Amino acid sequence: MKPAPFSYVRVSDLVEAFDLLEDYGADARILSGGQSLIPTLNLRLSAPSLLIDIGGLASLRGIEARGEQIRIGALTRHVDVERSPLIATRLPLLSQAMPHVAHAAIRNRGTIGGSLALADPAAELPACMLALNATMVIASRKGERKVPASEFFKGLYSTALEPNEILVCIDIPATSGGARYYFNEFARRHGDYALVGIAAVCEFIANQPRDLRLVFFGCGDRPLRASHTEAAVLQTGLTSLQLEKTITTAIGRDLDPQADLHASSSTRLHLASVLARRSIASFLNS
Ligand SMILES: Cc1cc2nc3c(=O)[nH]c(=O)nc-3n(C[C@H](O)[C@H](O)[C@H](O)COP(=O)(O)OP(=O)(O)OC[C@H]3O[C@@H](n4cnc5c(N)ncnc54)[C@H](O)[C@@H]3O)c2cc1C
Repeated sequence: MKPAPFSYVRVSDLVEAFDLLEDYGADARILSGGQSLIPTLNLRLSAPSLLIDIGGLASLRGIEARGEQIRIGALTRHVDVERSPLIATRLPLLSQAMPHVAHAAIRNRGTIGGSLALADPAAELPACMLALNATMVIASRKGERKVPASEFFKGLYSTALEPNEILVCIDIPATSGGARYYFNEFARRHGDYALVGIAAVCEFIANQPRDLRLVFFGCGDRPLRASHTEAAVLQTGLTSLQLEKTITTAIGRDLDPQADLHASSSTRLHLASVLARRSIASFLNS
C-alpha cells in the first residue's frame, strides 16, 4: 500500500521544526529513523499532512558523559548505542538490551528518541529508561522541560510529549559501583517484539541488596514497575527458599497482562515470574 499524500520538510535547525509544529499541530509528525513511522504511513494507520525530518540535526545525535549522567541525543541510532564503549561501561543494561531491539538493518536507522516517543508497550528501551531512572529532555518553542521516565509513558503509544514538542535527549544516571543489571525477554523469534521482557537493576551496598527495580514490558499498555514484587523480594531475601512462591504471589498484584494471538494472560504472567526469578539469580551470581 502507498501512503496518503503528505508534504515533507527536512529542517536545518530546531527553531524551524518548532515553527512548523506550531503551524501544523497534531497534523504534523516528526520523522527520525522512519522505521516505525513509514510503515504506519504505508499501512494508512496514520495520515499526517506534513513530515518534519529532523535527521540532519547533528546537535541531537551523540552520547556523552556529563558528570554522573550519560546524555544520549534523541537522534542517536540504536546501532551507535549498541556499539558504544561508554554505554558498555557506564550503562551496561542498555548494552544488554540493544541486541534484542528489532534486527540489525532496523537498528542501523532507528533512533533512541523515535523508540521512546513511539512508546510501544512491547519495546525494550522504554522499560530500560524506567529501570534506569532516566529523564527525558523535551523542547518546544517555549524552551525545555524535563520529565522523568516514570511520568513520560502514559499508555498505549502515548507519552507526555505535546504535539508542539520534540524529545531532544535523554539523561540517564550512570552506573554506581554496586549496581547489578539484568535484561532478558521471551520472543517468538529473535528480533521480534517481546511477548514479555524484563529490565532490572539492583543496587547493592556492602553486598546487601538495597534498591531493586523490576520493570516489565509486553505486560500492559506501558512499561510497568513491579513494586509489590520488589518489596516482597527484598523482605523475603534474595537467597530465600521461599523466593519462587514470593514472586509468584506478588507479581499477580503488579501485573495483569493482556491476552492476544501470541499468548494468554496467564502464560505472560508465568513468563514474567520466570524472568523475575532469573534476574534475582543473575544478581546473586554477578
Ligand atoms: C520489522 C520491525 C521490527 C521491530 N522490532 C522492534 C523491537 O523488537 N523492539 C523495539 O523496540 N522496536 C522495534 N521496532 C521499531 C524500531 O526500533 C524503530 O526504529 C523505533 O521504534 C522508532 O525509531 P525511529 O527513529 O525509526 O522513529 P520514527 O519511525 O521516525 O518515529 C516513530 C514515532 O516517534 C515520533 N518521533 C520520532 N522521533 C521523535 C522525537 N525526537 N521527538 C518526538 N517525536 C518523535 C514520530 O513522529 C513517530 O510518531 C521494529 C521495527 C520494525 C519495522
